[in-house]
Amino acid sequence: MEHGYEISLYEISGANEGSISGTNRIIKEQNARFAIGVGGGRSIDVAKYTAFSNGIPFISVPTAASHDGIVSGRASIHQGGRAKSMEARTPIALIADTGVIARSPFRLLSAGYGDVISNYSAVKDWELSHRLTNEHFSTYAAVLAKMSAELLIRDAEFIKEGLEESAWKVVKALVGGGVAMAIAGSSRPASGAEHMFSHTLDHILDKPALHGEQCALGSIIMMYLHGEDWRFTRDAMKKIGLGTTAAELGIPDDMIVKAIVDAPKIRPERYTILGPGISEDAARNAATITGVIGNYY
Ligand SMILES: [Zn+2]
Repeated sequence: MEHGYEISLYEISGANEGSISGTNRIIKEQNARFAIGVGGGRSIDVAKYTAFSNGIPFISVPTAASHDGIVSGRASIHQGGRAKSMEARTPIALIADTGVIARSPFRLLSAGYGDVISNYSAVKDWELSHRLTNEHFSTYAAVLAKMSAELLIRDAEFIKEGLEESAWKVVKALVGGGVAMAIAGSSRPASGAEHMFSHTLDHILDKPALHGEQCALGSIIMMYLHGEDWRFTRDAMKKIGLGTTAAELGIPDDMIVKAIVDAPKIRPERYTILGPGISEDAARNAATITGVIGNYY
């Protein structure tokens, strides 16, 4: 073809090794110049991961906005039944049709909202690590990630089912977090103890809730541990209908406590408010006081 591009379509079965080898084969056979991931999280994960390993650019075209993976340089790939976070290509462009995204199930968009507001505790963790371990810190990346969370918390009442404006607010905030991660050169501005908590739940639960739902729930607890205004985070979540208790996400209370205690083992090199780990009693107290488990505030 003289103008334009020839497109090869490949439908994946999931973010797994089979889909990756199938995509790799097409990229090599067609001598592809770039990869486009179209769909929910899985096809985007496969496209950005294979684009990275083949050294070609990647364009992200999400049809749902349930987490910041649509703009990040990490891919969640299933290996042996477990999701692993792998290095991948940050998109060179994002094409998000908010009309399409607004028509995807609202639970997905509210989970995306949860992933963004968890930037709050993630940035707190980063600041703490900078002070205690001298970890590299980018003020610009931190401010951008925090601002994305603040804007969504402020606009909580405008995040509603079927409202296209909600989709572009959440997508813009996810992009803000993605740019922050690109500036930082790591997921630090958008991933702290609340993400380790969520990843731990993914490992110990047969049926985990959505990533963004778990991260936001964890964020309430981590904000409390930081001595920050955790009610601010919780109240915004309530406004948009995100679960603020373990029961609402269908998670047993004991699993919440276990996930807080075990979270630092997920990524020991990433220093957070949980330090090398907190006691089971302290974890239970934090989850109880914030109303995540039990039933009093
Ligand atoms: Zn996330």
